Amino acid sequence: MAFTCPRCGRTSHNPNDEREGYCGACHDWTGDQQPGTNRQWRTVVKNMTKAIAHLEQENNALRAENDRLRWALGKGLTESEAADYLAKEGD
Ligand SMILES: [Zn+2]
Repeated sequence: MAFTCPRCGRTSHNPNDEREGYCGACHDWTGDQQPGTNRQWRTVVKNMTKAIAHLEQENNALRAENDRLRWALGKGLTESEAADYLAKEGD
């Protein structure tokens, strides 16, 4: 058995996803046609999942900036030169 997300069309072969109607790509219970007693609990987990996704985005942004700064440091740029470089790159 498999669960195919009605929203994005992704198919999951994870038995938990199938049972819950959960789509890992959408981070949502897109297959949940009959909200049950677990609805509130699911909302809590859903909001937590969203918060984690947001943190991961910030984490990736910080990591990317850190990589660029480390590159600048390796090139022997001063802090202000590195800042200029980053500002130019952002254009
Ligand atoms: Zn989906």
